[in-house]
Amino acid sequence: MTAITVIGHGPAAHRLIQRLRHHGHRGPVTVIGAEPQPAYNRALLVSVLDGTLPAAGLALAPLPPEVRVHTGVRATEVDPRRRLVRTDDGAEHPYDVLVLATGSRAILPELPGADGPLAPEIRAPHTLAGARPVDKGPVVVVGGGLRGVEAAYALGRAGHDVTLVHPGAHPMHRLLDERAGALLTAALRDAGVVPETGRRVSGAEPGKVALDDGRLLAAGTLLMCTGGRPDTALARDAGLAVRRGVVVDDRMRTSDPHVYALGDCAEHPGCHGTLASAWDQADALARTLTGDDGRRRPARHVVRPRLPGLAVAVAGPPGTPGTPGDDEQIVLSDPARGRYGRLVLRDGRVHAAVLVGLPRAVASVGQLYAADRPLPADRLALLLGMDGEYASSAELPDTAVVCQCNNVTKKALEQAWRRGAHDLPAIAAATRATTGCGSCTALVRQVCERAAQP
Ligand SMILES: Cc1cc2nc3c(=O)[nH]c(=O)nc-3n(C[C@H](O)[C@H](O)[C@H](O)COP(=O)(O)OP(=O)(O)OC[C@H]3O[C@@H](n4cnc5c(N)ncnc54)[C@H](O)[C@@H]3O)c2cc1C
Repeated sequence: MTAITVIGHGPAAHRLIQRLRHHGHRGPVTVIGAEPQPAYNRALLVSVLDGTLPAAGLALAPLPPEVRVHTGVRATEVDPRRRLVRTDDGAEHPYDVLVLATGSRAILPELPGADGPLAPEIRAPHTLAGARPVDKGPVVVVGGGLRGVEAAYALGRAGHDVTLVHPGAHPMHRLLDERAGALLTAALRDAGVVPETGRRVSGAEPGKVALDDGRLLAAGTLLMCTGGRPDTALARDAGLAVRRGVVVDDRMRTSDPHVYALGDCAEHPGCHGTLASAWDQADALARTLTGDDGRRRPARHVVRPRLPGLAVAVAGPPGTPGTPGDDEQIVLSDPARGRYGRLVLRDGRVHAAVLVGLPRAVASVGQLYAADRPLPADRLALLLGMDGEYASSAELPDTAVVCQCNNVTKKALEQAWRRGAHDLPAIAAATRATTGCGSCTALVRQVCERAAQP
């Protein structure tokens, strides 16, 4: 029986082990995780940071008892010749197949004065340890990409005094065009966040942070949301092919035929650094390791920032909405009501999209993009959420993911209904659907209403 050892116990490893059992693997499985707790839903860290969810609320379903789980143990070396892994507790773990699921590490830029006395507390909300609730204000969030925007928005709404320092012209400037960026900036202000765009932090002082224009901002906590990079140290030291991430083929195999990699540490054209991408890879790898054709077909993923009350979605190659070339474009701009949508169409399908303040379009365009389906004739109705056909739950397959933030399928919602969750709060408690960005609320309600029909 094949012995599988997995290094890293994040969502990718967790899903892989579940899928291995599902696809019939009966051999021994060992998972080695450096964090003190088993795998948890990293995408919900912002809810711990703003105090709306206890850390325990992020826990994933326990793994089967026969899986050997080592928590708080770091793998220090992979010996591909002898096929074993050494860990920092002095143990050696032999393997037939090794899976690297080491994820990514937060990038922490050097900040002069950061270790001085009374300097603000500095941390990255990348792990449960870094995302513990903020208790020292004011808060300066450094980096206005996706994660920085989510953190600033959540903390602002929770009543903290928050400044968001971002070098781009507007928050999330790599994903959003100017008009979408302006609406996001307005929403951040409404949440109580002060955006400092076109600025960088240049140093820390007692109780303060310095900006590159010389101004000083009061700061009790500095949240570094300055990106992450694939954690490839073990793979590199073991002589595996590594570029930015560990290089893998369509079956998630590295340059060593006994070693595979998946999730944020892996590099493949279809790897996105999202949960959905990690889950696709986990299923494909589980099928490969159980003798099936696990060739991975890259899925089309929609980026949906977790901003309760504000539906935002970005699909397609970054930058495409601003540079459409010969593609057809549909634009709806209604700044007075905080609504903006730009669809770039190719061959009658969504090639790229930016949507702000259009929750029904976020749901329906997201589904159409993910499934690569043709658009209905009335595109404006689609943007305005008046297209009944595509916003309806009736034609969704059971496996369709209705709540993208928490990966809740239509089938899971129907099961929750049958087990007694008969209103939205009960559905949310049972499945977590609607507790992320909230853009799926209408669709979740529809699924429940249909489930209630005799
Ligand atoms: C704040 C935040 C918010 C996010 N929000 C979203 C979202 O809304 N939607 C979305 O799709 N994605 C989101 N993501 C991205 C998503 O969480 C990642 O894509 C996902 O966690 C990748 O899973 P993974 O298992 O590959 O890596 P990770 O989650 O990084 O887990 C890797 C694990 O391996 C461990 N490890 C590393 N090296 C070793 C070693 N040598 N020995 C033992 N253990 C080791 C690490 O400690 C870690 O626990 C978010 C990420 C962050 C940080």
